[in-house]
Amino acid sequence: MSDSPQPPESNVTRHDYARREHLRYSATPILDFHTHVTMTALSDKPDGPAGGTGHEGTTAGAETMLALGREFGVTQTVTMCPVQDIAPLRAKFGDALLFNGMINKKLDEPDAVACKLLDDFLAAGVHIIKLWAAPRGRERGLTVDAPWRVDCLRRASNAGVRIVMVHVGDPDAWWGHTYTDTDKFGTKAQQYEPFVRLMREFPEFIWVGAHMGGDPEHPDHLAALLEEFPQLYFDTSATKWQVREISPRSAAVRALICDYPDRFLFGTDLVTRHGLTPEHYVSRYWCQRTLWESDWQGPSPIADSDYKHPNPANETPTLHGVRLPDAVLRKVYWENGRRLLGLSAGS
Ligand SMILES: [Zn+2]
Repeated sequence: MSDSPQPPESNVTRHDYARREHLRYSATPILDFHTHVTMTALSDKPDGPAGGTGHEGTTAGAETMLALGREFGVTQTVTMCPVQDIAPLRAKFGDALLFNGMINKKLDEPDAVACKLLDDFLAAGVHIIKLWAAPRGRERGLTVDAPWRVDCLRRASNAGVRIVMVHVGDPDAWWGHTYTDTDKFGTKAQQYEPFVRLMREFPEFIWVGAHMGGDPEHPDHLAALLEEFPQLYFDTSATKWQVREISPRSAAVRALICDYPDRFLFGTDLVTRHGLTPEHYVSRYWCQRTLWESDWQGPSPIADSDYKHPNPANETPTLHGVRLPDAVLRKVYWENGRRLLGLSAGS
């Protein structure tokens, strides 16, 4: 046994992903609202940020991922990719891909750079814009309410953009290592203050809080936000994080989603990258569907460095499925996303 090679991060328990009999949902296709499907190239860094390879890349990674997604019922995927990737991806995949434009600029770049990027995304036909504002982006000026981002929101609103996705917060566990300096990064609660201000200032937008609003650890907080802001939605993406934090509170999360079934969107946060194995993509689709539609229980197959268990034999968190009712799954997997994107609720 000790001679066998180290298992990959996508399957540390050597799970048989062909076992899918517990994935019982088939009433509609599935729309993945949160991914980073990009052109991929040999120059991709194994662990780098999503995409950015532009014209030098090919659609090979996207083809692999989307073909595996179809095996899990995913027929439409919203991607955040570099603006120059939109045309070649659209040419290859047509309506199977929809686009979300991430509005960033470097700290020393003038505000006009962000405006120009927004205009390029609008010209390319994005449905959504994204403001990535994790605490680790603060030093690079990527706060959610930076003045240049507020300007972009105004410009986007005038141009008819209806949906804004935000990444605020990060796992609670990260305040135990990466964010111990709260003078620099703020507390987790403080991450929500500028986000809430923006939702008040721009009630015309539909706001999507990525990764269960960044707070799957606290379903009561998510419920309070949904109650206060009728235009707020959450996506289920970031698979490791959701498996680790939803499983121990699966009853509370089930109750939350059943209380607000119109406000959740299926998402994986899969990123295409040259050299990723098919099993990497399969692991995230498999875990996401298992988490939401089944009552499967067992060790999560995916490596998770944020999981600390007193018994070192428990290498990964226990995945404990939420088993949402079919009528709720239909909304979360398909209808909510289709409605927000202005597509018909059917096929
Ligand atoms: Zn993402």
